[in-house]
Amino acid sequence: MQRREFMQVAVALGLSSRLATAEQHTVEKLDKSPKNWKSILPLERYKILFQEGTEPSGSSELNKEKRSGTFCCAACYLPLFSSAAKYESGTGWPSFWQAIDEKHIETKLDFRLIYPRTEYHCARCGGHQGHVFKDGPKPTGLRYCNNGLALIFIPENEPLPELRG
Ligand SMILES: [Zn+2]
Repeated sequence: MQRREFMQVAVALGLSSRLATAEQHTVEKLDKSPKNWKSILPLERYKILFQEGTEPSGSSELNKEKRSGTFCCAACYLPLFSSAAKYESGTGWPSFWQAIDEKHIETKLDFRLIYPRTEYHCARCGGHQGHVFKDGPKPTGLRYCNNGLALIFIPENEPLPELRG
């Protein structure tokens, strides 16, 4: 099919506007100071999300979470991981091999230990989630090692919460 014909068919099917929407989809940044977050988040969650804390291994209830659903940022509620990409890494932290949408996560290099690690955080609110390593399972080979306190789990039969402003 020629491109022009394809476009005509696509328009007829209402595809072009949806394709355009998908291409333009970016995460709008939330301009909210850590001080603001401190006033609404439980302290233990705040320390992980906005002071780059790390919870003790094995401490999160989400390690045992096996239901289908979505893991959202515990600060702003942006969906970050699907249960379909969760796996048991044996580390004691909830682990995933892929983000729900690569635009929902941003990374930076973290030099706080002797060797550099790749930190990742929620692209919308900047809340720290964990570190990503290259020893995960196929197909990505990635291991997103996440603090359970930085996430909330929404089972698939419940509606996702509205993004927090
Ligand atoms: Zn967030």
